[in-house]
Amino acid sequence: MPLSHDYTDRLSPMLKDIVRHFGTPFHIYDEKGIKHTGAQLIKALGQIEGFREYFAVKALPNPAILSIMGRMGFGFDCSSIPELVLSRNTGARGEDLMFTSNNTSQEEFLAAEQNGGCILNLDDITLIDSVPTMPELICFRYNPGPRRTGNEIIGNPVEAKYGVSYEQLTDAYKKAKKRGAKRFGMHTMLASNERNYSYMVETTRMILDMVAQVSAELDIRFEFVNIGGGLGIPYKPEDNALDLVAMGSEITELFTSFKQNNGYAPRLYLESGRYMTGPHGALVVSAINRKDIYRSYIGVDACMSSLMRPGIYGAYHHITVHGKENAPANTVVDVVGSLCENNDKFAIQRSLPVIEKGDLLLIHDTGAHGHAMGFNYNAKMRPKELLLRENGKVELIRREETMEDYFRTLLFEPDIFQPTK
Ligand SMILES: *Cc1c(COP(=O)(O)O)cnc(C)c1O
Repeated sequence: MPLSHDYTDRLSPMLKDIVRHFGTPFHIYDEKGIKHTGAQLIKALGQIEGFREYFAVKALPNPAILSIMGRMGFGFDCSSIPELVLSRNTGARGEDLMFTSNNTSQEEFLAAEQNGGCILNLDDITLIDSVPTMPELICFRYNPGPRRTGNEIIGNPVEAKYGVSYEQLTDAYKKAKKRGAKRFGMHTMLASNERNYSYMVETTRMILDMVAQVSAELDIRFEFVNIGGGLGIPYKPEDNALDLVAMGSEITELFTSFKQNNGYAPRLYLESGRYMTGPHGALVVSAINRKDIYRSYIGVDACMSSLMRPGIYGAYHHITVHGKENAPANTVVDVVGSLCENNDKFAIQRSLPVIEKGDLLLIHDTGAHGHAMGFNYNAKMRPKELLLRENGKVELIRREETMEDYFRTLLFEPDIFQPTK
């Protein structure tokens, strides 16, 4: 169930006009769909007191999108200084921001504590001594190691570079308390693109158990647990969607029984990126070439600089041809970009309708980890981003990169240093 019918029904009648006005290639996002998903998340988990989604900024770091999240009452999960700056520019302050960095630098710590601060989520026990000032509210990222198996994209927790180990966790809170922390949260993130909702339920059970254990040992209370992102979306037509309602009710039950056993319950935080925006974006490209050698290739006017997932993970992105949605998919082609890298393919041996030069192709589900992951290898530029507003207007929310952007960091007159010896 890639791109929703509702979105394609609204987009299709105006697509040719949008292309005439803005030109391809572009990612186009759907405000209505994003808000609908946000409302569904709140509905599923909103029974838990203080539930809040912290949108994972890296999924779609565009101010127009972040403003939509802010207006829904969501916070922001950031992992770099520019992500903090972007989020703060929407008006987010203090506990609206979660800073979940790893291998954190002093510069990042300083940026995190400035401008009203944020919730600091520490990734290692040694950082307790290196953080410039210990904030009142502190969170640690927990890595259960062999106590839990990860899923496919994020891998085995034993091999994951993130977080504090089971053996270190209690000590970490004890040390933080000694350095002045008075309020506590606990974070974990173990899955990526996981459509089996039970995985998130088990993660919640695990973190609540750890909260109970650490609370008892140190006589502290936890204000929140953050179960990270990783909710999956169906990229393939035959994929089942994650059962958000069942996930919500089972997680809610866990909080209810925690409260019965402990007399209080922490708040629940979530950091969804993909689930919030992934299905609400499409990369629209034009077919510009066709080539038949051992295989047939459809060349389009974008390449992996616009969307890395197929190239780096072999990820599937559904493709439809505008105006030929119901035509028989009776030709097998690779859909390719122009980069000098053979994995620069949006689809490999895909059955599609006969594609002619000038046809518009929609590459589905590019609303998360799409544009944001793009790079400039081979001097390929990243495309523009558009936003289809609820009122039907289309806004350009990021222009395409130009050659001037690409040259901007080059020093045609080098800055010379002559070592003395
Ligand atoms: C990437 C990331 C997320 C978002 O992951 P999704 O799979 O997009 O939901 C959330 N939290 C952290 C710490 C991340 O690194």
